[in-house]
Amino acid sequence: MINGIKVNDRALRWGMVGGGGTSQIGYIHRSAALRDGNFLLQAGAFDIDAARGRAFGVALGLDPARCYGDYETMFAAEAARAEGIEAVSIATPNNTHFAICRAALNAGLHVVCEKPLCFTVAEAHELEQLCAEKQKIIGVTYGYAGHQLIQQAREMIAEGLLGEIRIVNMQFAHGFHHNAVEQQSASTKWRVDPRFVGPSYVLGDLATHPLFIAETMLPQLKIKRLLCSRQSFVKSRAPLEDNAFVMMEYDNGAVGTLWASAVNCGSMHGQKIRIIGDKASLEWWDEQPNQLRYEVQGEPVQILERGMGYLHPGALADDRIGGGHTEGLFDAWSNLYRRFALAMAATDRGDRDFLKTFWYPDVHAGLMGVRWVEQCVQSADAGAIWVNC
Ligand code: NAD
Repeated sequence: MINGIKVNDRALRWGMVGGGGTSQIGYIHRSAALRDGNFLLQAGAFDIDAARGRAFGVALGLDPARCYGDYETMFAAEAARAEGIEAVSIATPNNTHFAICRAALNAGLHVVCEKPLCFTVAEAHELEQLCAEKQKIIGVTYGYAGHQLIQQAREMIAEGLLGEIRIVNMQFAHGFHHNAVEQQSASTKWRVDPRFVGPSYVLGDLATHPLFIAETMLPQLKIKRLLCSRQSFVKSRAPLEDNAFVMMEYDNGAVGTLWASAVNCGSMHGQKIRIIGDKASLEWWDEQPNQLRYEVQGEPVQILERGMGYLHPGALADDRIGGGHTEGLFDAWSNLYRRFALAMAATDRGDRDFLKTFWYPDVHAGLMGVRWVEQCVQSADAGAIWVNC
């Protein structure tokens, strides 16, 4: 059970790049990082508009001298302080992630970066190597993976309750961008512009989430090859897709599908993952995150509820309040930030044994997501052909 006790002997001094007053995702970063006292917000370059970013930092209660106009100045000034920041979160549009991650690692900081980690596999490799060289981590905010019942599914699959895995059925398909909302919304506008979002829209923005959930539930399964078809139903978005279907084959003979869409009219979020084995299936839906369906062939469906004593101890370790109460995305993100704090401290003390058995969305998970998107785009743009992974 998590009750707010710090995981390390002291909080890490922490800063933010992006995530300013007008951003969609900044608040959940701060809420999750600060929740359990594992991080202490001390500095920020919160906004592309320097004055607006400084004013926002001051309004958050930061020392005005540590509210910076840009990240380069922040990294240099903080490195020069006796007690400068030790970790930074990056919550800016995708085109900036690589350069800011690289600068942060070079400044000796641990990093939490938004997904997708960067645009190309070559960039992701460079960041992975830099992490190893500097002995710092990058955590990637695949926030949904922090839900307690994702851990429960991982434990049940590892125990063999599903049997041999045959099918992985994933989707993240909402309806919010069924028309050209980008004409009114700044936060959507960059998402459909390749200069800011990279080679894909929904594949990188949405699909990488259930893909990482599947990696968390099924760490042993590796994708062997994939085929992708992508469409731009709102024509002005081409060549970026607002809908995509991906078929995958895994190395154990299992098959998978992933549907990513921003034009699924009427759907609020529609992120679901169903794992089917030769004995039973598990299904989790992010709109009902406190429940996990466990379906054994020939038996009534069981709905496993978050926080209940019958869950695996590994899942209950992430519990914040007993069963019956609802937990949500903010709690899942807090669990993830708790994992980041543990991984940062273990890396600082060189605790390889701890890190070997401990999971969090790390730089390699970020690289896997970037590679998967790159291969999907390659497949789709060649006419939906099979591509080896
Ligand atoms: P947004 O457009 O709403 O906000 C971007 C913020 O970054 C703004 O505050 C902007 O001023 C600031 N910014 C831009 N360039 C900057 C720079 N060079 N230096 C400092 N600040 C800068 O975008 P958003 O929706 O919050 O998305 C930001 C990132 O978060 C994206 O990579 C997106 O993919 C990711 N995201 C992740 C999730 C998730 O579930 N993990 C959800 C939403 C968004």
